[in-house]
Amino acid sequence: MSNKGVKPNYSEMSWLIFHEEFQSEEDCYAWLFKTRWPKGFICPKCEGEEYWPISAQQRLYKCKSCRNRVSLTSGTIFHKTRTPLLKWFMLIFRMATSKTGVSINEMARQLEINDYKTVWTMAHKVRKAMADRDNQYRLAGLIEMDESFFGPSSSGKRGRGAEKKELVIVVVSIWEDKAGKERPGFAHAFVVKKANAETIEKVLKRLDVETKEIKPLIDTIRSDGWRSYQTVTKKLGIVHNRAVLLDPKDSMKLLPWTHKLIANAKAVFAGPHRGVSKKHLQSYLSEVCYRFNRRFWGKEVFHRLLYACATTSTITRDELMLKKVGQLSP
Ligand SMILES: [Zn+2]
Repeated sequence: MSNKGVKPNYSEMSWLIFHEEFQSEEDCYAWLFKTRWPKGFICPKCEGEEYWPISAQQRLYKCKSCRNRVSLTSGTIFHKTRTPLLKWFMLIFRMATSKTGVSINEMARQLEINDYKTVWTMAHKVRKAMADRDNQYRLAGLIEMDESFFGPSSSGKRGRGAEKKELVIVVVSIWEDKAGKERPGFAHAFVVKKANAETIEKVLKRLDVETKEIKPLIDTIRSDGWRSYQTVTKKLGIVHNRAVLLDPKDSMKLLPWTHKLIANAKAVFAGPHRGVSKKHLQSYLSEVCYRFNRRFWGKEVFHRLLYACATTSTITRDELMLKKVGQLSP
């Protein structure tokens, strides 16, 4: 690897910066090897440290003690890929450093991949890594919670056309800085079928500890919802601060962070993605949240995403297409 302790300047976000570190397949595989096995090869079956290389091209190794075959890409989103890793890493670089998300057509051109579907599937695998990463984070303290409709001509208003739209619950944790000013922390968004008490409880349990003996980490919910929230907060022993809206425009003031995130997501979906299908809305929301949650990470964001991709299992195109809409995944 050519990057010898020189910190790249991601504020420029140029390919030159990327290529300081990754110029060839060899660079990418070396990075992956080092990330999976920082202290050298370890057989996942018997912890043996010696191996025979079976296939250099497919990066297959055979453990000398138990003869287990180990693929360097197993347990990563790159498993069984036919696309060069350099192209994968380039896509990840763009997805990590872009403010709004990438256009698949544009990426197909830049990566010189003729098949749109291939790039589309790759991007969804990266989104899965993003979602898997964020699923490990729990929220605590005060959270802001709101609902919005996403879909064709997404005005977010209830009423006509709403049945064609998808309902999304957005949650942002809030913390106070030293001056006592409220700041947004971590965000999550979920596609749901209804915003009833049962769903809200499921969302809260996804965001928080599920064990009954432990007091919930979330202690206060701020929302403009009423009955469903009242039922759930009572049941779970959480305070519900209801934001009473006299004018719908007040929601910007009373629930500013969920509104910002919703507006941001809608702008992104109308922009580079030119509309988002129902089936994959959850993945795109996960991407928006992932980016929001790392807005202060600056130059680290690329390596963190690369790491997330190298430490989570892949998803096949068939599995992607079979995904159900509006189901809270565990
Ligand atoms: Zn072994």
